[in-house]
Amino acid sequence: MKVRDVQRQRVYDWEASALEPLNLRQVALKDAQMFVNGVWLAHGWLYPPSVMRQRPCRRIVAKTNGDEVHLRDQTPAWVILHELAHVLTLKQESHGADFVGVYLKLLDDVLNLSVVMMTPTLRLHGIKYNLGARLCPISAPQP
Ligand SMILES: [Zn+2]
Repeated sequence: MKVRDVQRQRVYDWEASALEPLNLRQVALKDAQMFVNGVWLAHGWLYPPSVMRQRPCRRIVAKTNGDEVHLRDQTPAWVILHELAHVLTLKQESHGADFVGVYLKLLDDVLNLSVVMMTPTLRLHGIKYNLGARLCPISAPQP
């Protein structure tokens, strides 16, 4: 049975109102693997997901299946961090409290967006977050 992803639209709405207007750094596809590797190494994690080109699609900006992150030619850094938070919480509810907790940590660590500054806007959107979320261990890629 698939778990309902109750926070998904709320997270999207929050991003549109709290992150998009900040006009944060854009990452070009050719630099995206290095960006992802940097995030991974800075946290001491092994096996960063591979960056792939997202097939042109009007609706989907980026997506991940855990091993790969599919991105467009230019992607806001926060969108990449959103996908990486999915990679790190694959076994949990898609946009649940653990996902948001990990996402907040990445936004703080990588883009200097303070968790303290973010939490009031999250509350405004009724988004639950768990700052103590455990990360899924990332297994070695299959040969
Ligand atoms: Zn998502």
